[in-house]
Amino acid sequence: MKVRVRDVVSGGIQLKFVVRPADIGLAEEDFIDPENELKVIADLVRVDDFILGKLAVTFIAENYCARCLEHLSKEITTHYEVDFEILPGEEWVDLGERIREEMIIGYLPRALCREDCKGICTDCGADLNSEKCECKKE
Ligand SMILES: [Zn+2]
Ligand SMILES: [Zn+2]
Repeated sequence: MKVRVRDVVSGGIQLKFVVRPADIGLAEEDFIDPENELKVIADLVRVDDFILGKLAVTFIAENYCARCLEHLSKEITTHYEVDFEILPGEEWVDLGERIREEMIIGYLPRALCREDCKGICTDCGADLNSEKCECKKE
């Protein structure tokens, strides 16, 4: 997801990308569905020796309910601000690397399948959303 430095002008440009998670080094363990492409909208502007960017990244997050471990799959859009210092002679900046870093740091994989999820019985393992277990709770 490389951007040519000279394409980014002081008036700003908007670029759109569609990439597979693997193309920017994201894999299944990064809580993303590897089969679904990320959609990236990047608003970039040149300010002196910097390129400043506002990124909107839409992807399918893969997750498990923190209580009952049900598999969850949900489209979410995250917003990042990035900046690149442009060194003399530098021709390209790589948005993909920044997005990968932001997503790994910023996306906390904690979710519930629903607010009142009853979870799993810690004694017998029954899913208490769909069944009642026989364990005696004191
Ligand atoms: Zn749940
Ligand atoms: Zn039980």
